[in-house]
Amino acid sequence: MSVEGRKKALRELFAPTVDRLGYKFTPNDEDADFLLEQLANIEAETGVPYCPCQARSKDRAADMRMVCPCIPFHRKHYDAMRRCWCGLFVHKDVTDPDSLRQIPEGRVK
Ligand code: SF4
Repeated sequence: MSVEGRKKALRELFAPTVDRLGYKFTPNDEDADFLLEQLANIEAETGVPYCPCQARSKDRAADMRMVCPCIPFHRKHYDAMRRCWCGLFVHKDVTDPDSLRQIPEGRVK
């Protein structure tokens, strides 16, 4: 499958999953397109759509917490930011994703 085809398939696959979690794709189409392309490329290389923004280790269990969409594994952290770490997904009520900032996990109370 082409990268464009896989990006479309990933979008269709992820949309209902993140919807149930209270999230949606970022309304910034350029960012969404870029991140989906990175995911499609990583998946083509490794067989798994690992997060393009988090460093993988050699620990498979730890790495599985970085398979997109990783929201359930980082719920408290992402809910505090109202976005996932990469910003591919934001809370459903977010209209200005540029106003949201990454917060290191250790600073989330
Ligand atoms: S941080 Fe966002 S883009 Fe990265 S794996 Fe998690 S949900 Fe996907």
